[in-house]
Amino acid sequence: MAKLSERKILKALSTVIDPDAGRDIVSLNMVTGLTIRDSNVGFAIEVDPSRGPVLEPLRKQAEDAVHAIKGVTSVTAVLTAHRGAEAQQAPPPQKAPAQQQAAQPKPAGREKLAPGVKSIIAVASGKGGVGKSTTAVNLALALIAEGQSVGLLDSDVYGPSIPRMMGVHGQPETADGKTLEPMENYGLKIMSMGFLVDEETPMIWRGPMVMSAIQQMLRDVNWGELDILVVDMPPGTGDAQLTLAQQVPLAGAVIVSTPQDIALLDARKGLNMFKKVDVPVLGIVENMSYFLCPHCGERSEIFGHGGARQEAERLGIDFLGEIPLHIAIRETSDSGHPIVVAEPESAYTGAYRDIARAIIQKLSATVGDGRPAPRIIVQ
Ligand code: ADP
Repeated sequence: MAKLSERKILKALSTVIDPDAGRDIVSLNMVTGLTIRDSNVGFAIEVDPSRGPVLEPLRKQAEDAVHAIKGVTSVTAVLTAHRGAEAQQAPPPQKAPAQQQAAQPKPAGREKLAPGVKSIIAVASGKGGVGKSTTAVNLALALIAEGQSVGLLDSDVYGPSIPRMMGVHGQPETADGKTLEPMENYGLKIMSMGFLVDEETPMIWRGPMVMSAIQQMLRDVNWGELDILVVDMPPGTGDAQLTLAQQVPLAGAVIVSTPQDIALLDARKGLNMFKKVDVPVLGIVENMSYFLCPHCGERSEIFGHGGARQEAERLGIDFLGEIPLHIAIRETSDSGHPIVVAEPESAYTGAYRDIARAIIQKLSATVGDGRPAPRIIVQ
């Protein structure tokens, strides 16, 4: 089979016309970071960030044009906004993407995302359903209670639950047609795909689309000056999560796990993912840690509580705290009035605030004097 050449690919791409300019994307110098590995092709299309949301058809057309070339088995194209960073932001061809992305240097464009935000932290989990979003919401509100200015970015595009948990509906406004104003409730600035797409519309997200959407929610949202932006990550440790961990300038990550998921080693996958991309793990939160009987107050440890603390110790990672399994935590977030604001004096709120204080302290160690936190080695 004839070897794929750059020339052949650019020729195919020169049939793709930018609808606004009326000219092809190659002669407009929009194609960057072209990578060919065997029969796999990856590249970025540089566009003005304000046009990003409407250019998905152009991206798709470019992918299709390359796919039509004989001998091409996979094509990955992303929309990108920053000249200079784009060559590195271009995805590698799809073969074994996890290893390839882990080996890439951190893209130079990372700093340009959300420039007024002092620290971006990720709340992640090894799998879904462990209470990651509940923790992200209550933690963000607890950080506010501790005097921080805070934003919450719901990057769980597969099942955005933050709008419901925060009791916020409607669509974000834009003053200049380019940047979106974040939504706001309980003093927390919020952005979620849930505001931008109809909840009833099923969406099929491919890896590069997830990253484009998240980058746009960071870059094209008027976050203003914030101490901390909490990013609720998509659950799991697949390619989309790895790319996000790599491309968003994260100051650190918080891993949420349940006692059972510690046993199943899912949480460790989360730790390893951040380690791969050199993001410091701030610590582990054990959620649904024990059951506090709402009637008699008795504490029962139905899932064998304490596993996260031991696992954290074993791995040399800080244990940030434990949150009990309690119906009030579920009911308050299901009704759009999370426990930290619904019951500010409760022991649950106290637990979230303890975790918030620990995080603030850790961040001041990394951001405050410019020194990095100690490197965490997970073996
Ligand atoms: P994830 O983001 O990990 O998928 P969610 O935060 O959506 O998980 O939580 C899954 C379900 O568990 C939700 O109904 C939520 O209200 C409930 N939940 C989460 N944490 C707790 C807790 N500590 N006590 C009781 N229910 C909880």
